[in-house]
Amino acid sequence: MTDSRILQTLSKYWGYTSFWPFQEEAIRSILDGRDTLTILPTGGGKSLCFQLPALVSGGMAVIISPLISLMKDQVDDLKDMGISAECLNSSLGVKDEREVIERIKSAGLKLLYLSPERLALEPVLDLLKSVNVSFFVIDEAHCISHWGHNFREEYRQLGLIKKNFENITVHAFTATATRQVQQDVIEQLALDHPHVYIGSVDRPNLTYRVLPRSGNVIRQVVDVISKRPEDPGIIYCLKRSDVDEISEKLNDLGHQNLPYHAGLPDSERKKNQDAFSSESVPLIVATIAFGMGIDRSNIRYVIHAAMPKSIEHYQQETGRAGRDGLRADCYLFYSGGDYRTWEYMLRDSSDQEVLLSKLSAMYNFCVRPECRHRYLVNYFSQDYQQRNCGSCDYCLGEVEMIEEPLVVGQKILSCVVRAQERFGAAHITDILKGDLTDAIERWGHQTLSTFGLMSSETKIFIRFMVEQLIGQGFLERRGEYMTLALTESGRKLLKGEVVPLLAKPVVLAKKKDVEKKRREKRESDWEGVDEKLFSVLRAKRVDLAREKGVPAYIVFSDKTLKDMALLKPATIEQFAEIFGVGAAKQKEYGEIFIHCIKDYCAGKSGV
Ligand code: ADP
Ligand code: ZN
Repeated sequence: MTDSRILQTLSKYWGYTSFWPFQEEAIRSILDGRDTLTILPTGGGKSLCFQLPALVSGGMAVIISPLISLMKDQVDDLKDMGISAECLNSSLGVKDEREVIERIKSAGLKLLYLSPERLALEPVLDLLKSVNVSFFVIDEAHCISHWGHNFREEYRQLGLIKKNFENITVHAFTATATRQVQQDVIEQLALDHPHVYIGSVDRPNLTYRVLPRSGNVIRQVVDVISKRPEDPGIIYCLKRSDVDEISEKLNDLGHQNLPYHAGLPDSERKKNQDAFSSESVPLIVATIAFGMGIDRSNIRYVIHAAMPKSIEHYQQETGRAGRDGLRADCYLFYSGGDYRTWEYMLRDSSDQEVLLSKLSAMYNFCVRPECRHRYLVNYFSQDYQQRNCGSCDYCLGEVEMIEEPLVVGQKILSCVVRAQERFGAAHITDILKGDLTDAIERWGHQTLSTFGLMSSETKIFIRFMVEQLIGQGFLERRGEYMTLALTESGRKLLKGEVVPLLAKPVVLAKKKDVEKKRREKRESDWEGVDEKLFSVLRAKRVDLAREKGVPAYIVFSDKTLKDMALLKPATIEQFAEIFGVGAAKQKEYGEIFIHCIKDYCAGKSGV
């Protein structure tokens, strides 16, 4: 197959003009009949890597996917592009299932989506052996590994593919893979000398901001939402009760949203998820139970109202924002209490050590003032080349560093030593502030040389410094009473051999600047785009999606609508030039949208 044919297919079916990093390589490897492991970030365009070769190969590709809702979305999406695809899973009725099987037998399908449980059934294996399977794909392949963060027992059986289909290639795809996970995937699937493609895990279109949680997290959340009341967003909470509380309060404040967590009845959960997917509600408040099945590509922000338990989780949850490649924002509101809550929840788990080290890395991310993109990329064992990412609170200059980090660090650590490493963070803060509390009098700590050593600072400031020193591993909390003690590197700091990185707490006065920068950035993104027309097109998309019973992004992505609102195509030929418009969509939606644009330009659409 020539490069130009591949490109023609890309443009004809997907309406795209070029490939993203590693897509072409992965496609080539599949077409050349070589096993592959491809790691691309969320939104990196993994589906295309196997859908395109499936389309141009003889026979039918089999895609193993962990979630029914994911399968359904992808199949709907493919059908909408004019590609024959179906799924086989427990959601089908008997009649539909029989029909799908008939189409498999009569070679009427290009792609078949299967759950891992189904694949393991004898009749299904026999069926697949009797037809021409072009290749197998394992989507979300990290689920196969204990080292991953979504281990699925059913994925363990997938080794059976190579045993049963000796000459058919297997291609694994995932977004998160540390080296251990990569190794595990290759071994468990018995991939044969696979080509391994590892894209950058970085998500340059996401802007990360990490802030200590105030006593009033609702205010912090509302601050973010009210800047963009129309945009779709997800708010993640740690506990179900937090979901209920935040969801209710936001609704009271007029920010329409739905809750989502494992404690809700199945039917309600599904209803809420569907309402979000079909764009009838812009906002969902959820525990991490939400999202595996969410393919909605135009999520403009993700707020974490509490700290997740690992960078892997954080990356996956924030990864749901901005899958369409347009700018999106991620806010994380954390507190030291989150760390302790997780530590408590993990206390009885079998791989406690691994989980605690993941938790520490997460906390370190929160309290360590450095480029957030760099931290995340380095965490996944990759290099980050840029000096300034231009899209995190640190690089945007929203984080101010303190002037004498070593001196401040030494003051705090020596106070911990003077108190004989027997007191917690609150008490140490009181001593440094010089606050004569009952406890301080009882222990006679007003006589310590460190008493009042930082009296000119606020307690919030001191406490923030303490938390950063913990997060960066100079101090640790010990035992039931969470007493602070020095670590090995803490002793080095005391001797002045290492210097901590300490940021000032965010000052409110700076918020205005931050807001201004954010606005400027957004404006440059939308240069030339008629935003009113964009809203009109968005409403049209919702109508069409509702008629067809599919999520809105399946009709067109935000990026496509934005391009229409920029170029305002007036003919079907011009329409075909719009980003993301392939032949099938041109035919199905061209006239409708052109009409809509014409009406709008003639001032007829009532805005
Ligand atoms: P992943 O599965 O890796 O998270 P998807 O396959 O869902 O990502 O792709 C994310 C979005 O990017 C989809 O809307 C997809 O159609 C789009 N996309 C993929 N490849 C390209 C490309 N080469 N050019 C433009 N858009 C693309
Ligand atoms: Zn940065």
